[in-house]
Formats: sequence, structure tokens, C-alpha cells
Amino acid sequence: MTISHYNTNLFQFLEASPSPFHAIEQLENNFSNNGFIQLHENESWSLEKGNSYFLSRQQGAMIAFTLGEDEDETDGFRILTAHSDSPCLQLKPLPAIASKGYSQLGVEVYGGSLLAPWFDRDLTLAGRVCCTVDDGSLQVFLINFKRPLLTIPSVAIHLNREANSSHSINKQKDLPPVIGLLDGGGKNDLKKLLKDYLKEQFSNNTISKILSFDLFCIDTQKPSLLGFNNDFISAARLDNLLSTHSCMSAMTKASKKKNCMFYIANHEENGSMSAAGAQGSFISSVFERIIPDGEKRQINYSNTFLVSVDNAHASHPNAPDTMDPAHDIALNKGVVIKVNANQRYTTNSLSAAIFKTICATAEIETQEFVMRSDMPCGSTIGPLTAAQLGILAIDVGAPTLGMHSIRELTGSRDPEMLYKCLVQFLASDVHKQLLHRSPR
Ligand SMILES: [Zn+2]
Repeated sequence: MTISHYNTNLFQFLEASPSPFHAIEQLENNFSNNGFIQLHENESWSLEKGNSYFLSRQQGAMIAFTLGEDEDETDGFRILTAHSDSPCLQLKPLPAIASKGYSQLGVEVYGGSLLAPWFDRDLTLAGRVCCTVDDGSLQVFLINFKRPLLTIPSVAIHLNREANSSHSINKQKDLPPVIGLLDGGGKNDLKKLLKDYLKEQFSNNTISKILSFDLFCIDTQKPSLLGFNNDFISAARLDNLLSTHSCMSAMTKASKKKNCMFYIANHEENGSMSAAGAQGSFISSVFERIIPDGEKRQINYSNTFLVSVDNAHASHPNAPDTMDPAHDIALNKGVVIKVNANQRYTTNSLSAAIFKTICATAEIETQEFVMRSDMPCGSTIGPLTAAQLGILAIDVGAPTLGMHSIRELTGSRDPEMLYKCLVQFLASDVHKQLLHRSPR
């Protein structure tokens, strides 16, 4: 089986997006190449029906929107939302550590990482660096070393006989990766490493000083198809770049006739409370500028439907008891609708009925996920955005194993199935049938 065109694109996007900043850069390139007009928050806008626009905030969040030719500002929007960040290890501001002749880097755990799989991997560094350049001005550079630079070596089983039975990980002591040996040659100088890289990659700029950075440890292994029949995709950051990519692809394909919006937020993995996160003001401020009239904006919200896309747990063959037995989730068997009675997901019977109808039209199956009643449920940006704007919403996603591991697994047909449903949604009016029906 050869790799599909869709998965080839997805793999390129995953590889080119080692950090949220790189993901947003990819999105900017994509929308710009597809005729979307770039906006900036610090400029005034003059918007026209039939046009598509995009803007980013702090390089970590993005909104793209189309003002439909056939709709006006009270007709509501079809919104797709996902997030740009993934759990990982982030460098501390002063990361240099020396121990037993090794040069190491101090790291913080970003988000809810599954830590054990981070050991013994060939890691690199990627993210953004802020510098002063020759003429005294400040500049931001995205960097991705790509080559293996770091690793977190396990302690041998001979020296830790409990390693396979009761091993716990101390985030301060056990995680600093090694980056070299201390031999007096100044190799523990991260800033020199960054400067040399920047000199090589951006030869037009002479860096005079590295001021600050957001740098992440990233696995160098590329995404791959896996399995006897290539049933699986194995890759880093499927949560949530798989969804980001499917939303981007659907938004790019959408016609200019209907009001559509694409919203990618940062910082979902640590609670979304930031200017670029879903608890921030980004989406509401964009709506205030698209529809300045307060009453019209509220009418717009009441006609809007949001599909929040984030990965869902698939049933695990070695841990079948982790799922509700009546709600098994299989790979390559359809898009997952996520339900939680306590509103950790936004799905309710109205939004589920709408989304199932859309998927049926796209000829894609759906599956329904609910947590076991004796386990707490995760959440995502759907509830935050729906509550902030007061809009009807649903949480859906592609089924995944090993969520928040350095390497996650999904079905090889799942990303494209999700994409097809999102394309159908952006072309659909079906949500308008249920939005204002009150029971009698
Ligand atoms: Zn996620």
C-alpha cells in the first residue's frame, strides 16, 4: 500500500511543525498561498464579503475566516477549532547543567507529558529565539536543528532492579538530557550553539546577542506508516497537529459562499489561560472587529456552530478495562464524538444530531466516546470557546493510542475521514435546522 496524497501532506506538516510557532508559520504559508489576505491586530481592517483573511497572535495562535458571499453578519459562522501545542520538554531560561563530566540542559515539563517514552530517544531542539542583531534591532528567529543533539539515557536495569516494576520519574532530577561531554572546550555554551546555527541559517543577519528563547526538546524520528497492512500512523504531536492539519485543509477547500472560521489556539495542554490560549480574548476580539454592532454580533453567535477537534482515546488492546465497555473506539472506523455529562466536552444531543447528519452526508461513520464513570475526564478548548461566545458546539476527533507520549498512534485512514467530515460541515446549513427549536 502506498501512502495517500492526504497522509503525505499530513506528514510534511507534522515534520515542519516541531513547535507551535512553526505550526503557525506553516498555516500562514498555506493560507497566503491559497489567496487568504493577511491581517494584523495592530492595524485597522477593511473587510469585504467574498474574501478570506487570516491573522496570528504571538506566533502561537491563528484565526482565518471567510465572509461568505451569500451570507451576512447575522447569519452565523461555521467554526473549526484545534490547538497548536503538544506536551513536551521545554528548556529552562538558564539551562546549563554540568554533572559527572556531562553537559546537560535543564528542562520543565510542558503540559501532561507521558514521560517514560522520552528516555533513550534521539532528540533535537526547536522553537524560537529572540536576538539583537547588528543594527541594534530586535529579531525573532524560528529554529529547528533537526539533527540529533540530545538524549535522556535510562539508568541500566542492573543499577535499578525496580525499573520494570515500580519506577517513578522525578521531573527535576531524572529528565535533564545530555548534550555533550565537558572537556574544557566550552561545549556547554547553548548560546554559542544557537549563534552558530543562526549564522549558518540566516546569513544576512549578524547576531550580536541572544536575549531569550522558547525552545523545546523534539524527537527526530519522522512520521511513518506502520503495520502489516500499513493500518497505522506513528508520529509525534498527532495531538493536536493532526486536527490542526485537517481543519486547515478543510478551511482551504471551503467555498467563498458561506461564513467560515478556523481558530487554532496555543497553550491548550496547560489550561489555555494566556493571550494566545482559548481562555484569552483572541476569538472574541476578532468577532468584535468583524461585526462591530453588538446586537448583530449576538445574533451571529446564536446562529453559529463550532466543531472543536482534538484527538480521542481509542480502545487499547492491552488495557481494555480503561474504556467504558459499551463505548469501544476503534481505529479506521470513523470520527469520534466525545461526550461528557459534566461538560468537559461541549457535545449535547443537539450538536451530536447535527454532526451525525453532516458525517452521514459525507458517508463517514461516527463513534461515541464517553469516559468510564470511575475515571476523571480530560477536556479541550471546545468548552472554553463555546462558553465565552455562547455558541452551540461539539467535541470530535480522530482516535489515538498513547496520547501525550512522544510518539502517538492513529489509524492510517482516520485523518482523511475527519477531514472529509469537516469539509462537509463547512459547506452545510444543517445546524440551522436545530439551533432555534425550543421544545414545546
Ligand atoms: Zn489535545
